[in-house]
Amino acid sequence: MPDKITVAGVPVDTRHWIGGRRVASGDTFTDVSPIDGSVLGEISRGTPAEAAAAVAAAKAAFPAWAATSRAERARILHAVADGVDKRLEELAVVETTDNGALLRSHRRGVMPRVAHNFRFFADWLLTLEHEDFETRGHRNHVSWDPAGPSVLITPWNAPLMLATWKVAPALAAGNTVVLKPAEWSPLTASLLADIAAAAGLPAGVLNVVQGYGSEIGDALTSHPDVRRISFTGSVPTARRIAASAATQLTPLSLELGGKSPLLVFADADLDLAVDLAVEQYDNAGQVCLAATRLLVQESIAEEFTRRFVEKASRLTQGDPRDEATDIGPTIHPRQLEKIDGFVRRATAAGARAVIGGHAEDGRYYAPTLLTDVAQDSEIVQEEVFGPVLTLQTFTTEEEGVRLANDTRFGLAATVATGDRARADRVTDRLVAGTVWVNCFFVRDLQAPFGGSRLSGVGREGGTWSFDFYCDLKNTVTAP
Ligand code: NAD
Repeated sequence: MPDKITVAGVPVDTRHWIGGRRVASGDTFTDVSPIDGSVLGEISRGTPAEAAAAVAAAKAAFPAWAATSRAERARILHAVADGVDKRLEELAVVETTDNGALLRSHRRGVMPRVAHNFRFFADWLLTLEHEDFETRGHRNHVSWDPAGPSVLITPWNAPLMLATWKVAPALAAGNTVVLKPAEWSPLTASLLADIAAAAGLPAGVLNVVQGYGSEIGDALTSHPDVRRISFTGSVPTARRIAASAATQLTPLSLELGGKSPLLVFADADLDLAVDLAVEQYDNAGQVCLAATRLLVQESIAEEFTRRFVEKASRLTQGDPRDEATDIGPTIHPRQLEKIDGFVRRATAAGARAVIGGHAEDGRYYAPTLLTDVAQDSEIVQEEVFGPVLTLQTFTTEEEGVRLANDTRFGLAATVATGDRARADRVTDRLVAGTVWVNCFFVRDLQAPFGGSRLSGVGREGGTWSFDFYCDLKNTVTAP
């Protein structure tokens, strides 16, 4: 198999990146573009031996990187960000070809955010205070010690953005990293390894192992030399990782799925509320934060639905490389089948598809709105991860909040209301890691990010990321 493939004109190495060297596996897996099903190439299919080699490389590189001054670590991370900027167009086209999300959002939103992840955590590192206080004349000195080799496991829906959201703070903290990207979107992680090496990141500080989580996951997550595991993905996988990490009691950060509500009150700006609702189809609904449960106050439900349908019907579905496209393909025919299964079971149980409710072909799923759904039904309670929204109505504020919170998840919630006092009352009572009022997806990297209940364990972002990736140490010195 060739070591390099060319994707949308960009050469991409298909091998692992371990200890500053490219390493091939004996076996491969096939990477396919979700846009048209074309084969992009054969990627090294990691084995437990390569996973162990990557951890060994991260362990060997750790002492020197941990001892590197904060200023120098920050300088190198800024150089990585500059490298991302320089190759932004290549990263954008490769990511779109690999995972099917819109090229225009990769160009203008996602890849600039990838660069920002590195700059933000480099700068935040320099602001971290060592805390000092006195106890009966003794000095307490609290320091942020790098924890050690960290395993970072990421999903396919926003591959490089989610990977660097972990890689950047882990490296800034002084940790070394083994990144395991999702097997449905392996390519930009390989480009990141090239960019980091060109920026001067020492060998072994960042390692990338490709392959199936089911084959190499345990070797990474139960390894005794791994000091941190940060995972973004689904709840079932999180359970397996938590069980595997339990053998070494390795600290975990879990960023998982959601079934977030959008509460629309009668006093809301209706145009804004409709815009917020239609926005939930972004990335073909393959967004963990998506507010997939529309909860609309009864008195405006008819008008809301009319305007929603009007606006949603104008969305263009098609090739994500086309600037005019609003909704691209689902990641994989298996994901499409899963989405369709949810919708079929819901309609069999009495749900009505106001729009959509069917696949467009083997890769594209029509934006769907389901009404007449029961609160305890599968379609209201389980994450679909596709362009499928449900609409339910409520009469009182009390009932709206109750429905919003009646879920096993707690990742995000959005509230549309024109009444500030109501917004305060409602947001106080919502169970979610992030709550947006009259807006959606506005993210500041210094804010804590994560989920309550089944949506996750822990928070990352700003100081919270350093809390996770560091071992805090208190040194008490006698007078
Ligand atoms: P997934 O859980 O199937 O896979 C995620 C990653 O875990 C992949 O890299 C996979 O190879 C790896 N993996 C699989 N089995 C493993 C094992 N036994 N040990 C170690 N690693 C293993 O998730 P997915 O389908 O790729 O992603 C979609 C899910 O991710 C959705 O539930 C979505 O809500 C969630 N997500 C959450 C956030 C967030 O920030 N909370 C962001 C994006 C996506």
